[in-house]
Amino acid sequence: MTISELEFLERRYDLDREQQLELELERKGKVGEFYFKSLMDNKLNDNIAVITDYRFESGGSECQIDFLIVLNNTCIIIEIKNFYGDFELRDDGFYRLNPLRKIKNPLSQTERAEIMLKNQLKRLNLNLDVRYYVVFVNDQCSLYQLTRDKPIVMASQLNRFLESLNEEAYDKNHSYTLKKLESARLKESRYNLELKLDFSQARKGLTCQSCSGWLEVETYNSLKCQSCGADEKIENAIRRSITEMKTLFPNDAITLSRLSEWIGHAYTPSKLRRLLNVICHSHGDKKGRHYTLKGDNTLS
Ligand SMILES: [Zn+2]
Repeated sequence: MTISELEFLERRYDLDREQQLELELERKGKVGEFYFKSLMDNKLNDNIAVITDYRFESGGSECQIDFLIVLNNTCIIIEIKNFYGDFELRDDGFYRLNPLRKIKNPLSQTERAEIMLKNQLKRLNLNLDVRYYVVFVNDQCSLYQLTRDKPIVMASQLNRFLESLNEEAYDKNHSYTLKKLESARLKESRYNLELKLDFSQARKGLTCQSCSGWLEVETYNSLKCQSCGADEKIENAIRRSITEMKTLFPNDAITLSRLSEWIGHAYTPSKLRRLLNVICHSHGDKKGRHYTLKGDNTLS
């Protein structure tokens, strides 16, 4: 899930404590990935290719890699952890300290990804080496008993780590490798589809883009946020509502009646239809008519 998906979800649904914790973890992870991505964008030179969120299937199970760096003749798996606090690496596993609790070992998790990627490369006839790093991006994270042989990068080493990759890079041409890797990429994660949300349970209405508030119809063409007072054009608000629906219910078509319900019947069907004809492509005949946003290649 992306950060915006999490935001849509939180705004539209009452989540229980467990779901909230899960989302918080997810959000922290995403923030860490975003941070590392921006570092790479700034520091890594053009000889190095990076694939973000690489997913593929191997042996019937799905593998997700935060960042896959293609460098010369090597694929480097980067697993990002945005952990906060004190941790310890012991022979029998990975522990959080104060209070002591054994947690999932990020090294074993990434080792599994390494094995799966090796199989994947073999299948794609790509003769590349594979190595991996677990990168702890939070500078408020300490890892005790960490030895130099471990493929771990701490926050204080991030810049030097990226510099060392630059120094290693000499081969510029990865287009064949990238094309092959992309060809085997899973477009949609099975995990996302497991989110099973109940449309009828969602809070209905038009959401504000600047705060967590809700918009009310102000004039013929504009809306006003009831919380922060921000104004917004009807077109933008409807576009965002369609994106929300597409994100939370990726398998369901956007129909006039569904959209109408989603926005809390803020507009009459005829007005909404006129607007949809402007901002969307319409598909299907009268009965099954549905819409996709114009200029939207990612979510259609
Ligand atoms: Zn607002």
